[in-house]
Amino acid sequence: MNGFDFFIPTRILFGAGKLAELGRTPLPGSKALVVISAGQSMRRNGYLDKVLTLLRENHTEAVLFDRILPNPILRHVMEGAAVARNEQCDFILGLGGGSTLDSAKAIAVMATNPGNYWDYVNGGSGGAKPLVHPPLPIVTITTTAGTGTEADPWAVITHEERQEKIGFGSPDMFPVLSIVDPELMLTVPPRLTAFQGFDAFFHAAEGVLASIASPMSDLLALKSMELIARYLPDAVQDGANAEARAQVALANTLSGMVESISSCTSEHAMEHAMSAFHPELPHGAGLIMLSAAYFSFFADKAPERFAAMARAMGAAAAPGAMVPALLKLQRACGVAELKMSDYGITEEELPQLADNAMSTMGGLFALDRYRLSREDTIAIFRSAWK
Ligand SMILES: [Zn+2]
Repeated sequence: MNGFDFFIPTRILFGAGKLAELGRTPLPGSKALVVISAGQSMRRNGYLDKVLTLLRENHTEAVLFDRILPNPILRHVMEGAAVARNEQCDFILGLGGGSTLDSAKAIAVMATNPGNYWDYVNGGSGGAKPLVHPPLPIVTITTTAGTGTEADPWAVITHEERQEKIGFGSPDMFPVLSIVDPELMLTVPPRLTAFQGFDAFFHAAEGVLASIASPMSDLLALKSMELIARYLPDAVQDGANAEARAQVALANTLSGMVESISSCTSEHAMEHAMSAFHPELPHGAGLIMLSAAYFSFFADKAPERFAAMARAMGAAAAPGAMVPALLKLQRACGVAELKMSDYGITEEELPQLADNAMSTMGGLFALDRYRLSREDTIAIFRSAWK
């Protein structure tokens, strides 16, 4: 049995209506840089106004930074950090989905540290330097159920010129406070609900598959998979189903904890390569496209892990039952027919994607139970391609 290091120092306020507590809960500073996406949803749904009002009630000033893209880029991290420094913000509040919250974390790092964010990133052309100063404190308010970033120390940012999409983190990058209010998720459209729900699912499933999985991470990951298998189709079909939204939100937060104490595996590295070259590809969609080929490859290499995952998904406790249960869940969520070619990924570029995955996020390959060669990685890409 593997041991574990359970360190998740984030206060998590979870439940319908919890956003209201932002107006009275102790905050880590008196002037927030509020980070939101460049899209309109935070304004249109009234979430931004609500958060700004609650901050005022809590005697906290706010400066807005609203440039974050769905696949967040380095340039906006540096811009946001410059605003935080110029405005002398003393904490960063991310409001939105995973890309916004990851950007908030990276901005918190660069608000206090010299140089460029890529100097500190570990992987690809990143400089892998240790942080000089602790980041500003981070508060997250998540409006989607996908990345689990509210409960982990990771941020995934793309260096757009170098086509590197890399997850980087440090223990200082755990949020000090995260508010998970499923009422903020009722407006997420069906397609995105499915993509994000599957991202959470794979954080959990890869966490079970990773060689560092422990009884503690299994507890969280298998529960997360159970909840997603049971409730994600309902949340996709009826976005106003508050119970389904809450259960999927819980699954997502649990999967964030899994990322904190276990790890993702090479599937995530492979998807990051796909969306580094094709930034319009949603991360969850890329994972779905890879998943049947990826998990089929590993099924006979870790049969006991696959039996446990199949059982958690409500299927027979047999290694061969996991992939069929996964495909059934994809059909129930209307995402079984996704194709790489629809996003412009050609068969010819698959070797390049394999090389990018192995060089930028090779650390995840090291946590697989079976060490993939370059040829294995290309073969999985080829088998997933359509
Ligand atoms: Zn992910």
